[in-house]
Amino acid sequence: MPELKCTVQTCVHNQQFLCNLDKIEVGGNKAKRSEETCCDSFQERKGDSYSNVTGTASPTSMIDCKATDCQYNESCKCHAGKISVEGSNACHCQETECATFCAVCE
Ligand code: SF4
Repeated sequence: MPELKCTVQTCVHNQQFLCNLDKIEVGGNKAKRSEETCCDSFQERKGDSYSNVTGTASPTSMIDCKATDCQYNESCKCHAGKISVEGSNACHCQETECATFCAVCE
């Protein structure tokens, strides 16, 4: 399972740069660059409604990924050792991206 670091602090699932979900979905089935990927599991944190999930976020998550042109993608699962999701002021999942996306060389 990849280590997941995430800078999207506007997401309800973000706890100190870690994600509290055991599994996330990364979108971008035609992505050729990281800007064209997004975290489909993003959910905007509204007002001061912190997620009432107890416990701490674990550093690893399962990642289902639609960006099949990424060299870490094997059968729509991410096999990178570590990934970084970015989008510091995101309000929508389209404003997030997998910064680790790396196009398969042709
Ligand atoms: S590193 Fe590649 S396979 Fe892994 S989540 Fe990011 S885009 Fe998908």
